[in-house]
Amino acid sequence: MNKIISDIRETARQLLADGKVDVVIGYEKGSLPLKATPCFVHSAQEVDSLIWDETCENNLAAFVAKTPGKKAIVAKGCDSRALVVLLQENQLVRDDLYIIGVSCHGVIDQRKIGAEVGEILEASITDGKISVKGMEGDKEYLFAEVKDATCQTCRYPNPVIEDLHLGELIQVSQDVAAFADVAAMENKSESERQEYFKEQMSKCIRCYACRNACPLCYCQECFVDCNSPRWLTGGVDRAENLLFQAGRVLHLAGRCVDCGACSRACLQGVDIRALNRKMTKDVYEMYNHESGISEEGKPALNVYSANDPEEQFLVKE
Ligand code: SF4
Ligand code: SF4
Ligand code: SF4
Repeated sequence: MNKIISDIRETARQLLADGKVDVVIGYEKGSLPLKATPCFVHSAQEVDSLIWDETCENNLAAFVAKTPGKKAIVAKGCDSRALVVLLQENQLVRDDLYIIGVSCHGVIDQRKIGAEVGEILEASITDGKISVKGMEGDKEYLFAEVKDATCQTCRYPNPVIEDLHLGELIQVSQDVAAFADVAAMENKSESERQEYFKEQMSKCIRCYACRNACPLCYCQECFVDCNSPRWLTGGVDRAENLLFQAGRVLHLAGRCVDCGACSRACLQGVDIRALNRKMTKDVYEMYNHESGISEEGKPALNVYSANDPEEQFLVKE
């Protein structure tokens, strides 16, 4: 067992035994290979189910507001950024939250592996090597070869807010070209982009797994479920799929923390990230705002300034 796992378990044991929290939200081994699953540990006797590795792909901030009582959460960089946004939006009470911060080297892109070996039947991770037995063959990967796209451009692998830090801090490479992927999409012609998104939206079956995995999609009634006004029918077609994704991207403008949880949750492989990242880049360029990196900041679109330089929108006296 690695030291971070034993430290997570010991911390959880102590917090629960001392009555400082009612529940610890972390990860446990899932029932499928290379899949950890979120878990909710309520007693010191249960802490040995907690794990930490490259399969811990969910953003656990998605479960915090829905979990009653005082809670501790195991948070990697992107989870912590989502917690910051939730705190800024008054969805959480800081005093009810104990953040066990862990530095994160990234999570595995299972889709990449599945595309090569078919359904994953068995897998193990040893010293950064991932050995996989699949329906269509066996293969061994270095972690870097199957690191999720989100993690390849991550600039916040260390938690930005925490009560305790476990593991060594990770140096962030300054060479990471922050929006090279978005720039590549912007450089395509309009018709190429249209074709690309038509193809992506044709794959969507509107299961809403992307929305449900997102820590920042927390509306009690989502616009897609709304009857009055009714934005979408229950049916699935490309235009409505695009309306759903466009609505979602707008609602997440200046809030999305680029954790990739929505993309990983999509079994249809829809490139949701391309839309989210474009919005993230636009907000960054227009407002010099990165979401969830400072407790003091406010979401960019929640701030009003009488000195807004867009004079054409000012009411003339
Ligand atoms: S984006 Fe990836 S590397 Fe960065 S904190 Fe999240 S899971 Fe870890
Ligand atoms: S994008 Fe994927 S996860 Fe989201 S609704 Fe469509 S099929 Fe489901
Ligand atoms: S939209 Fe996707 S990438 Fe952005 S915060 Fe939600 S789950 Fe994470």
